[in-house]
Amino acid sequence: MQRNTAQREAIRDAFADAGRPLSVDEAHEIAQKTLPSLGVATVYRAANALADDGWLARVELPGEPMRYELADLEHHHHFHCTKCDRVFDVDGCGLDHHAHLPDGFVVESHEVVLYGHCCDCSRKRR
Ligand SMILES: [Zn+2]
Ligand SMILES: [Zn+2]
Repeated sequence: MQRNTAQREAIRDAFADAGRPLSVDEAHEIAQKTLPSLGVATVYRAANALADDGWLARVELPGEPMRYELADLEHHHHFHCTKCDRVFDVDGCGLDHHAHLPDGFVVESHEVVLYGHCCDCSRKRR
């Protein structure tokens, strides 16, 4: 069981330290630096277990593999870099729910995804 605990910890650390949503592959790559023997299937199972526990939240962007982020974050939007395929958090909101809503409609939640190039990728272009 000792090994499983170390695995879980490495996987949790990967998500906790990332500061942005990670796919299973990304979390695997990071956690492998601590535990080289870590398999991608283990990360996949752990991410789902952590999401079921409510510690991680699933981030599902259209046409994208599932990503996971810490569940206790404030409401925020996401930025998807179309070059390096990383997803970043964008703090704040500023969206007016009621602006164009027909009478009687009630919004419960929303998801905003911005697409473009992150600072690393836009710098490389110049
Ligand atoms: Zn990028
Ligand atoms: Zn918002």
